[in-house]
Amino acid sequence: MKTQSFEPFITIVGTENAKHTQAQLMAYSYDATANFQHKPDLVLSPKSTEEVASIVELCAKEQIPIVTRGSGTNLAAGTVPSQGGVVLLFNNMRDIIELDEDNLTITVQPGVITQDLSNYVEKNGLFYPPDPSSMKISTIGGNVSENSGGLRGLKYGVTKDYVKALTVVMPDGGIMKLGGKLAKDVAGYDLLSLMVGSEGTLGIITEITLKLIPLPQTKKTGIAYFNSLEDAARTVSAIIADKIIPVTLEFMDKGTIHAVEDFMSIGLPRDAEAMLLMEQDGPEEQVTQDIQKMIAIAQEQGATSAILAATEEEAEGLKTGRRVALSALSRKRPTTILEDATVPRSEIARMVKAIQQIAEKYDVQINTFGHAGDGNLHPTCLTDTRDVEEMSRVEKALDEIFHVAIELGGTITGEHGVGEMKSPYLEWKLGASGMQLMKHIKQSVDPQNIMNPGKMFAKETKKRLVVHGGH
Ligand SMILES: Cc1cc2nc3c(=O)[nH]c(=O)nc-3n(C[C@H](O)[C@H](O)[C@H](O)COP(=O)(O)OP(=O)(O)OC[C@H]3O[C@@H](n4cnc5c(N)ncnc54)[C@H](O)[C@@H]3O)c2cc1C
Repeated sequence: MKTQSFEPFITIVGTENAKHTQAQLMAYSYDATANFQHKPDLVLSPKSTEEVASIVELCAKEQIPIVTRGSGTNLAAGTVPSQGGVVLLFNNMRDIIELDEDNLTITVQPGVITQDLSNYVEKNGLFYPPDPSSMKISTIGGNVSENSGGLRGLKYGVTKDYVKALTVVMPDGGIMKLGGKLAKDVAGYDLLSLMVGSEGTLGIITEITLKLIPLPQTKKTGIAYFNSLEDAARTVSAIIADKIIPVTLEFMDKGTIHAVEDFMSIGLPRDAEAMLLMEQDGPEEQVTQDIQKMIAIAQEQGATSAILAATEEEAEGLKTGRRVALSALSRKRPTTILEDATVPRSEIARMVKAIQQIAEKYDVQINTFGHAGDGNLHPTCLTDTRDVEEMSRVEKALDEIFHVAIELGGTITGEHGVGEMKSPYLEWKLGASGMQLMKHIKQSVDPQNIMNPGKMFAKETKKRLVVHGGH
């Protein structure tokens, strides 16, 4: 973009809402993903849907790429402006527009921080369940665009299960309203669902209506430690097989336990090979029954210790420990690559074992934590991009992890999205015909490819591995 072409954009948002010095642009050249960086030309903070529409119209006229950015916490290089252009921020669009207690919905602007929304509805006796670990900083717009999950996904589902309506600025600058507060609607293709998880590649979401549910009466948290990863993984399967659907069933391996303990000193035992965090919510009697049963199942499966958190503070401390797992691990080595392989719940033990074997095979450091109840694991590779030889082993190990996940009926990403980082692997999951359909959709919605170009669709698909010996 030429500097003189900034003027019409600055006229739309005002000088105070435009950034273009080199230092300012640097701050928006990367996100939470290791190893991807590219500076935008201009960063804008619009104040309304109409301002967004005017910006998009200008971009469409000049074929300028637009990268929409919430808080930039995504882990798939989804907000790196790899082809330059305009970065759109929502720091001026953080209003809660309406809490509708008759329809149990809340309507917000996309820049609202997830934790703020959660606190707001809970103060009103209602509940918004999706709770990504990043919720203290992530935005609702980012959550919807990534279809984010969280610690409560097992019982309550993910973001898409709560999106009722969206206002979207389309790639030609048109404003489209999708969905509504109604409980049922089968008029036409499900365009609302198409937008959820579209990672800024089809349009820009400027208003969101979410479903709320009543706040559960009570909750209880249990914790179990194990001498082997397999015992923990088997406990997850046994709990589900017993027809208990806990609100949370989270897993951390030994390396992650150590990293969290080094970071927070909350008294996690350093000799444990694995821990499971178990939570149930709902009516008091049911919660007590379920949590006791889960503790008993953990003991049957070989837990060295399985107990109820003694106080609400202890329970909160344990949950915070799990939420900071990634930050704690990332202090250990210069580069952290977090993956998101997801398998059917029944395959969790095999996947955990396969990750261990792959780490040994390629001699790389991989620690695993994640939403075990969802089959959603986060194998986290601690490495150093400056070491070319190690990085080549890391790449092979991660390729093999994706390969095994797909072989087990799983996917390359359960909640973090594709972005630029996972795009070379997308065809492994969707196949050639799935990719073809995605390309047709993208081409018809955004024929000039100005919406977050370079994301979802890779220049080249990675060669699929042929792994002998099985896992
Ligand atoms: C420590 C840590 C823990 C995490 N834990 C979880 C977790 O438990 N579960 C989980 O699912 N994810 C998790 N994540 C990933 C990340 O936080 C989520 O993907 C989150 O939803 C991103 O929100 P954001 O506001 O930072 O969006 P960004 O990263 O800024 O953007 C994400 C994507 O959405 C697009 N986008 C953003 N806003 C809009 C909009 N208004 N309209 C259209 N497109 C838009 C962007 O272009 C980009 O493609 C974690 C990340 C970190 C760093």
